[in-house]
Amino acid sequence: MLPAGEWWVCAFAFGTVIGSFLNVCIWRLPRGESLIYPGSHCPYCDHQLGPADLVPLLSFLIRRGRCRYCGRPISWRYFGVELLTGLIFALLAYRFQFGLDFVAYSLFTAALIVAFFIDAESFFIPDEVNHFALLMGVGRDIYGIAQNETSHSLIDGWLPHSILTAVICAAIFVGIRILGTALFRKEAMGLGDVKLARAIGAMLPIGAALTSFFMAVIMGAVLGPVILLVKQRRSPPSNEDAIQEKAVEEDIKIPFLRDSLESLQYLLFLDIPITIWMRFKRRPESEPLVEDEDWQPGATHIPFGPFMAVGAVAAIFIGNQLTDWYLRWSHLGMLFGGKS
Ligand SMILES: [Zn+2]
Repeated sequence: MLPAGEWWVCAFAFGTVIGSFLNVCIWRLPRGESLIYPGSHCPYCDHQLGPADLVPLLSFLIRRGRCRYCGRPISWRYFGVELLTGLIFALLAYRFQFGLDFVAYSLFTAALIVAFFIDAESFFIPDEVNHFALLMGVGRDIYGIAQNETSHSLIDGWLPHSILTAVICAAIFVGIRILGTALFRKEAMGLGDVKLARAIGAMLPIGAALTSFFMAVIMGAVLGPVILLVKQRRSPPSNEDAIQEKAVEEDIKIPFLRDSLESLQYLLFLDIPITIWMRFKRRPESEPLVEDEDWQPGATHIPFGPFMAVGAVAAIFIGNQLTDWYLRWSHLGMLFGGKS
């Protein structure tokens, strides 16, 4: 067993290596490219990167953020994702010490980081990311149950807590979606958000998961208008844009009954075998996987996934304290027992 100080440093270094791979995921998953082949290459000159170009953080700093072969600037996002992943892993090492919880939570957070950046840029979260995060939550719980760990148990002798929490969290988001469709015939909550909520529910205790959604809503309400303002400053919407957006909005009116019924598959986890089946049928290296091909983000659209990801990471560290405080304050404690 390592002394605590060295363990954090190891976790940080491990995080930067994982972060380097997350950069590959963030670039390739929305483009439908393989994560393994071909190896990393410069997006401008296509030059294959060698081991010396792939040292996390250091390669970027030594080359001052430029490609060694063509000299063109590389996005700061690459450095940022490596640093961020390293810092979060170090915090997780502090929170969980060394053990299975550290491994499960760090891989879960890695998926959240990928979801954050892809959703912020492309307005969707790939199924691979959501299903991986879900697998971490359910897998950790079932392993804990098999090993008779005190914090993992079956409800009524058959139902893992993680599955129940996942269904509750997905149901909340499906409810918002159905309500939005009923009221506005518009997408109030994306399907990617429903799947992300389910994964967060599988990993976090119910109180922390709900706290994370609450934080996401607050962040969205506070930061959403700011982000829109900055976006409009950068590229003011033209009259044409407004007309086009109106046309797009009228185009994507969602049929209420069909959408409500389809939403139920996420509560029953039916989408997972369907996705796997589609993956086998689909030839590799085919077109990018966008969940709704006819859906286009409008100028006033802000993805909710990034807020959910930040909320979930925050909830890992302070979710339990916030939940306890809230339950004491609201005297709702008797409603929530179980997994903690
Ligand atoms: Zn280059």
